[in-house]
Amino acid sequence: MTIEEEIPEVGAQEFYDKYDPKEILGRGVSSVVRRCVDKRSTQSYAVKIIDITPSDKMSTEEIEEIREATEKEIDILKKVCGQDNIIQLKDCYESNAFFFLVFDLMKRGELFDYLTEKVTLSEKETRNIMRALMEVVQFLHDQNIVHRDLKPENILLDDEMNIKLTDFGFSVQIKEGERLKEVCGTPGYLAPEIIECSMDPGHIGYGTAVDIWSSGVIMYTLLAGSPPFWHRKQMLMLRMILAGKYDFSSPEWEDRSDTVKDLISRMLVVDPKKRFTARDVLNHSFFSQYVVNEVRQFSPYRRFKVICMTVLATMRIYCNYRRAKPVTKEVIKSDPYAVKPIRKLIDACAFKIYGHWVKKGQTQNRAALFENTPKTILLSIAAEADEPAHSIW
Ligand code: ADP
Ligand code: MG
Repeated sequence: MTIEEEIPEVGAQEFYDKYDPKEILGRGVSSVVRRCVDKRSTQSYAVKIIDITPSDKMSTEEIEEIREATEKEIDILKKVCGQDNIIQLKDCYESNAFFFLVFDLMKRGELFDYLTEKVTLSEKETRNIMRALMEVVQFLHDQNIVHRDLKPENILLDDEMNIKLTDFGFSVQIKEGERLKEVCGTPGYLAPEIIECSMDPGHIGYGTAVDIWSSGVIMYTLLAGSPPFWHRKQMLMLRMILAGKYDFSSPEWEDRSDTVKDLISRMLVVDPKKRFTARDVLNHSFFSQYVVNEVRQFSPYRRFKVICMTVLATMRIYCNYRRAKPVTKEVIKSDPYAVKPIRKLIDACAFKIYGHWVKKGQTQNRAALFENTPKTILLSIAAEADEPAHSIW
């Protein structure tokens, strides 16, 4: 029975009286997000509909768990409302069968889809996104709230391309000094200490630092297009995370600054005590670069410096041009991936064709698209069929 066919009761009736549900925007394990229209104002919103209908698929304990988790999610959403880069909960309704959480509609969708469309982002764009994300993380951590599921699918974009953090389904507010042991999150974004908790019942637990690790994974992925930790076999990927084994060796990193690499390497630190905090991240020189003063006074020295730099840059381009090997048909045929513009074109085409599949696959394996042999892509699909690896543990 679909949601529209279900006979609504109290809370649900109130929702249907006020809103018209429309097309699906996204899906989770036990939720569907739809666009909905406020009947009075005709304004569109997004409604997250969480199904708690008793059925053969779910035991009463499981339903009770979802109900409790949703109540916690609503509680946190109310606590964090008002921060510019956090999604605003407009309304919420509860009935015996469903929860309806109404949010502002983010028409531009997920950061994940934006990245799939662009393949990689520039350092400038990454800086804007990461600054906003880290300000949100700092705001949450100041209140001892741990998000626990930071990933590009849970970061939405508004009309002006500002980010809005969403999905507080795994978020918890901890007491000062309290440690968590529950294993939850999305495999590729899990901090090593969360994985350790799943292997060692005597582990001391984890805290807010897990969000910095996931933010490091997001930052790496925005710049490289593929994630830092990825393997077809999930077990091997978890081992890479435990060892903090990643590198900046892919061609995308050639043009990236040492500053940005330095910041990522201070976020992806296995020992949570040595890992940067949100405040440390925001104080890193990566965020103070290229700050342009609004009012600039004429300075003969600056003008002279710009002229010198322009001449030097022109000379360098000219020399490189003379030294550069011509791109012949043979070069393109033998190793097209080695030629940067062609590499970008191939990646963009691959994302256009397979982007949909990556999203559907749920294993967040953008990396598979960078392994440019048909055999490896087939292997990934096969591995995906074996391992339903999506997020919720
Ligand atoms: P889940 O807990 O099931 O992952 P989310 O809250 O993350 O649920 O929502 C699932 C998906 O629905 C998101 O990844 C996004 O694609 C879409 N979505 C959620 N909220 C909105 C919104 N306010 N505007 C537009 N799309 C949204
Ligand atoms: Mg989500």
